[in-house]
Amino acid sequence: MTRLSGRVAVVTGGARGIGAATAVRLAEEGAQIAVFDLPDVACTATVAAVQAAGSTALAVPCDVTDRQQVDAAFQQVVETWGKVDVLVNNAGIVRDNLLFKMTDEDWESVVAVHLRGAFLCTRAAQRWMVAQRWGKVVNVSSTSALGNRGQANYAAAKAGLQGLTRTLAMELGPFNINVNAVAPGFIETEMTRATATRLGLTMDEFKRQAAAQIPLRRVGQPRDVAHVIAFLCSEEASFVNGQVIYVSGGP
Ligand code: NDP
Repeated sequence: MTRLSGRVAVVTGGARGIGAATAVRLAEEGAQIAVFDLPDVACTATVAAVQAAGSTALAVPCDVTDRQQVDAAFQQVVETWGKVDVLVNNAGIVRDNLLFKMTDEDWESVVAVHLRGAFLCTRAAQRWMVAQRWGKVVNVSSTSALGNRGQANYAAAKAGLQGLTRTLAMELGPFNINVNAVAPGFIETEMTRATATRLGLTMDEFKRQAAAQIPLRRVGQPRDVAHVIAFLCSEEASFVNGQVIYVSGGP
């Protein structure tokens, strides 16, 4: 399909996992993709996959917590392609610990990447979206927003993203900009693989345990999330605004 033909999309944390799958899925819809990730992270695989999907990609080094890097990254996208139509705030980290062991750094780094990152990127992107009266923003929240033991920092940040989503939907809606969120459950990526290692489980055992708790009896794949993000960026979803769609295989 080519529902995003002629559109320019920015995907943060696009080097791997859900971000990489989203970059490819949006490319399949015809969008040109700017892949934002940390300066020391190679986005080569995502760029190649976007090209294999028939589109063009630009790897942009950008730590989303750094205002100067964010502003410079969006400037680079606009200098290259003239505009920004779609923004997917996907970059994320985990620093899990029970509250009494959680350090200031654990708290601040997680809140910074998810919340400050989404704030800085959306503020930078809206300038062009408002001017052209068209834009789609999708924030990647999580089922952890509903509460998850050992994730006070992450749960607070992901719940915060849902408040940010609803508020920006109100502020930006009058300019024909849709702001929505997806809230994935267990998705098989490096992030969940690292959690398995931390818990002393093999990935297969961790997946098996997770799947037993999920009504659809399987864990999710990055593409499961990417499909929903692509829908939210399409004209079919043009009257959906300020919503959080759980992509988790059931409640
Ligand atoms: P990954 O760890 O596989 O990918 C996250 C990407 O974000 C990495 O490439 C990472 O780079 C990058 N990143 C981290 N910090 C920054 C930063 N400051 N600036 C730019 N990029 C950064 O994770 P997933 O694909 O699993 O997760 C993607 C999103 O989905 C996250 O927001 C996550 O919280 C959310 N999510 C994931 C779930 C899951 O089960 N996997 C469930 C629910 C939500 P680096 O490699 O250097 O860290």
